[in-house]
Amino acid sequence: MTITTTDVGIMRDVRTAIPGPNSQALHARRQAVVSAGLTNGFPVYIERAAGAILVDVDQNRLLDLGSGIAVTSVGHAVPAIIDAVSRQVADFTHTCFMVTPYEEYIEVCEELARITPGTHAKTSALFNSGAEAVENAVKIARYATGRSAIIVVDHAYHGRTNLTMALTAKNMPYKDHFGPFAPEVYRVATSYPYRDGLSGPEAAARAIAEIETTVGANNVAAILIEPIQGEGGFIVPAEGFLPALSQWTADNGALFIADEIQTGFCRTGRWFAVDHEGVIPDIITTAKGFAGGMPLAGVTGRAEIMNAIHEGGLGGTYGGNPVAVAAAIATIATLRDQNLAERATVLGEHMMSSLRQLQSETTIIGEVRGRGAMAAIELVVAGGNIPNAAAAKAVVNYCNQQGVVAISCGTYGNVVRLLPPLVITDEQLTDGLSVLADAVRSLS
Ligand SMILES: *Cc1c(COP(=O)(O)O)cnc(C)c1O
Repeated sequence: MTITTTDVGIMRDVRTAIPGPNSQALHARRQAVVSAGLTNGFPVYIERAAGAILVDVDQNRLLDLGSGIAVTSVGHAVPAIIDAVSRQVADFTHTCFMVTPYEEYIEVCEELARITPGTHAKTSALFNSGAEAVENAVKIARYATGRSAIIVVDHAYHGRTNLTMALTAKNMPYKDHFGPFAPEVYRVATSYPYRDGLSGPEAAARAIAEIETTVGANNVAAILIEPIQGEGGFIVPAEGFLPALSQWTADNGALFIADEIQTGFCRTGRWFAVDHEGVIPDIITTAKGFAGGMPLAGVTGRAEIMNAIHEGGLGGTYGGNPVAVAAAIATIATLRDQNLAERATVLGEHMMSSLRQLQSETTIIGEVRGRGAMAAIELVVAGGNIPNAAAAKAVVNYCNQQGVVAISCGTYGNVVRLLPPLVITDEQLTDGLSVLADAVRSLS
């Protein structure tokens, strides 16, 4: 028995051992043909989905608190997206925008110009993945400034291609033995209030001093930063950190690039996370929540920067694929029409109060943090702040066994993050949080 697009409110229901026999059979089959370099933390194979519920091949109904890593923010099986994609598949699936263009590409770029921060003239270029967007943002920043140094921060995650591995901080599993990495990438300290105790301006002053002394302001093409660090541990910088870095770039002829690939499209309660502090990036990279699950990424920036590139300097065969673009138009309309930014804020309050309550009952939650529907607990060895990766792993495993998809993150692997679809119902979220609470209590 499967579910349909109208079954969005149904509840979690685990009917077999997890993973069930059909998932186990698929997993055995997979070993012969899928690279072992790709792992599955949770080898349960999915057959259908709707809203915040995934149905696996054994007919277990799993509650999705990960949204495929902040991708399906509008939920699974959204009728408007199904319609838009189906129509576009029937019309045409590919021409290559640079060979023979189409209107929908323009429409998405108009939306990006509207919803990204700032009222200045903006242009965009579309790509297939977040990493590709970040690579192009770096290309553009270097071209437009005539400088080469890219500043990134501790705990940063920007992707897994060669350049983006250089930009990403964490060695295992992203970088180990995959070098040599691209040059002219410099890493400075970030703002991690729980671990550095610094105010935003203090953390910014520390980062700026490092940049000025070790790189030199006049060599810096851009500071590239996630407004809230995703893979690095859902680290929310102290207030004032991002505005100070942004101001420094403006004062020194460098660009401020916000990597909003995980934080964008209403996830944090605004269209983009930088909106919370009124920061206006010169360039913003988007992907993940952009297109309701279809692969699409964007680079949006000040027109004079984006248009500085020579003709033909940007592109790719599939970037801005018509089907992905049709999904993006429907996704953005859904986010807007259903007021999902506001919903993200409400979900955030729900998660924060529940997680803080849990923190008060145990000694292994060092910090509860997040913004909007991007919430996390940082697990530590009882009583101190030593990272406790084993606890995070145990919590995620416990949730999985109960049919709740939760994911860990963090440089130290000790953070459990919640990224529910923004259409999750209150009842579903309460259910998921109670499983998470049981998981943490089981360790105390
Ligand atoms: C996921 C992510 C990327 C990489 O996106 P892919 O589509 O996986 O290449 C880059 N930056 C941030 C902040 C991300 O969360």
